[in-house]
Amino acid sequence: MSCLMVERCGEISFDSPDQNAKCVCMLDTTHSGEIGTKKKVKRLLSFQRYFHASRLLRGIVPQASLYLLDEDYLGQARHMLSKVGMWDFDIFLFDRLTNGNSLVTLLCHLFNVHGLIHHFQLDMVTLHRFLVMVQEDYHSQNPYHNAVHAADVTQAMHCYLKEPKLANFLTPLDIMLGLLAAAAHDVDHPGVNQPFLIKTNHHLASLYQNVSVLENHHWRSTIGMLRESRLLAHLPKEMTQDIEQQLGSLILATDINRQNEFLTRLKAHLENKDLRLEDAPDRHFMLQIALKCADICNPCRLWQMSKQWSERVCEEFYRQGDLEQKFELEISPLCNQQKDSIPSIQIGFMTYIVEPLFEEWARFTGDTPLSENMLSHLRRNKAKWRSLLHKQHSSSRSNDHSGQVTENEEQTLNEGDIP
Ligand SMILES: [Zn+2]
Repeated sequence: MSCLMVERCGEISFDSPDQNAKCVCMLDTTHSGEIGTKKKVKRLLSFQRYFHASRLLRGIVPQASLYLLDEDYLGQARHMLSKVGMWDFDIFLFDRLTNGNSLVTLLCHLFNVHGLIHHFQLDMVTLHRFLVMVQEDYHSQNPYHNAVHAADVTQAMHCYLKEPKLANFLTPLDIMLGLLAAAAHDVDHPGVNQPFLIKTNHHLASLYQNVSVLENHHWRSTIGMLRESRLLAHLPKEMTQDIEQQLGSLILATDINRQNEFLTRLKAHLENKDLRLEDAPDRHFMLQIALKCADICNPCRLWQMSKQWSERVCEEFYRQGDLEQKFELEISPLCNQQKDSIPSIQIGFMTYIVEPLFEEWARFTGDTPLSENMLSHLRRNKAKWRSLLHKQHSSSRSNDHSGQVTENEEQTLNEGDIP
């Protein structure tokens, strides 16, 4: 197996140039233990950073950027940042204006806005270096789980942290944890899900014993980068240990398999009216809920953005399905492009996952403009997908039979075409 190590001095060494082997060994602890005795290994590089480093070592200069930065673009990006707390913030546009650096730019800005740099005496250059590491560890070739998704979740988290019910109690530490967890919650995501890693005997699945495999990897990768960058090295040891644990608990909460566990607890708290946000454990619980909401808030965005995210996530599912088909594995649920259409996937996701969580979130926040806005988008977007699904069914029926669309169907289509 091939592993890539990085030392304190920055020297990089390989034990195999095998491209295929590199991604299966990034957390090979046995191997790192062996080499670690010979060298002071700080952290194994992830697949993404291996790729960047090996390109540099081979003298390959990255291709010219698609979007040339000039004063006009930077000016527009700056202008957008002044509206970063608005729910209709267009993260796709912001990513283009920042030349693909939305995550770094957004986080630097939010750390400033929330006074975190001053409060925690952070070094700006170190913060920037850490954020670049995080951004580069996302796989830009993933249609969905990439750095733009992380930036989108972070922007949503910023909006939720401003909700009065929560904001009045949050400490600078809570805010920093919320933003860091949002930014890093999917770092180094391979673009396939946990069942895929388990059935292909991926080393991450055995490392984390088939439990929250991806989330554990996102968390441990984040800790690796925090330590390597030394961003928090000046803080007391107990504090950094607490930060690492809390980041883990927040990132692990994004495991969709634990949705019911969190929803049941939230409902019980709201029924009993026993949330005491003066207490750190209750604040932490609500940060977990806020991050979960931010992670799946796509259906609550404006239709044009929501639709883009839906298409991207389904594209990622279908790619996994194609891979499974290629290797003669059973195609996972939602991953079969022939059977699982985007509208049907989205309607199911909204009905069983998104709506139940956001209804409780709205109960927690009270009828704030943001919660009302999100629920209203959710309803409209669901109606839109229903209409598109209906259209699909109608066209397949009309292909099968007369080829005619009935008057009633036409009316439904038009009604469903909500912008
Ligand atoms: Zn995510």
